[in-house]
Amino acid sequence: ATDRAIAMLNRVRISDPVSVMQRYPHQLSGGMQQRVAIAMALANDPSMLILDEPTTGLDATVEAEVLDLIAQLRQELSASILFISHNLAVVSNMCDRVGVLYAGMLVEEGPTEVVFNDPRHPYTVALLRCLPRGGQRKDQGRLDTIPGFLPGIGVDIKGCAFADRCALADDRCRSELPPLYDLGGRLSRCFHHDKAQALPRATPSDVAPVPRAAAAPVLRVTGLNKTYASHGHA
Ligand code: SF4
Repeated sequence: ATDRAIAMLNRVRISDPVSVMQRYPHQLSGGMQQRVAIAMALANDPSMLILDEPTTGLDATVEAEVLDLIAQLRQELSASILFISHNLAVVSNMCDRVGVLYAGMLVEEGPTEVVFNDPRHPYTVALLRCLPRGGQRKDQGRLDTIPGFLPGIGVDIKGCAFADRCALADDRCRSELPPLYDLGGRLSRCFHHDKAQALPRATPSDVAPVPRAAAAPVLRVTGLNKTYASHGHA
């Protein structure tokens, strides 16, 4: 069993597996804990690996290392990977296909590039409008927001679960559950999937010009020092 454990830890690029096995979980870094968890998941040679928010709580550098490891394992394993994340940038980098869930229901599914570039469900459209992008400045245009809240758990929803937050909703949306429409290699659970991208913004994109006085620094500090106490000494 030890040899098998060492092999699994080697597989997730842990260079000193024996020392890792001699430590408690709280003695390992977040990135190392994730590697160990992935090694445990691989122990039975699964045909599917489910990674639920595998990089939550990791700093950006360690997140990049863990994602890199997952990408390498994906090449080595003959297993499918179901990657669950709220991080759309990570999803767009890691996944071949993406499924968008709302209130526990699949509302859109398709090849990642297609869904990100040509979303056909208002929720996906709204989500992508909330996403900061490289080169975008907040004095040049606002990100959008999604008004309202998710329906409460256990609430009986008659029609589309997104209707209360959707500016395209009509009477049919509020009374009938939309089916998953097959749009040729992709799916959308929206009666109005053909005009999803016409969803009105919830937040105007225009930004009022910043008055000159407001553009000046609010606070200016010079000669500031901070000392951290260590072992009882300042
Ligand atoms: S079915 Fe209606 S309420 Fe639901 S997302 Fe489509 S347009 Fe909006």
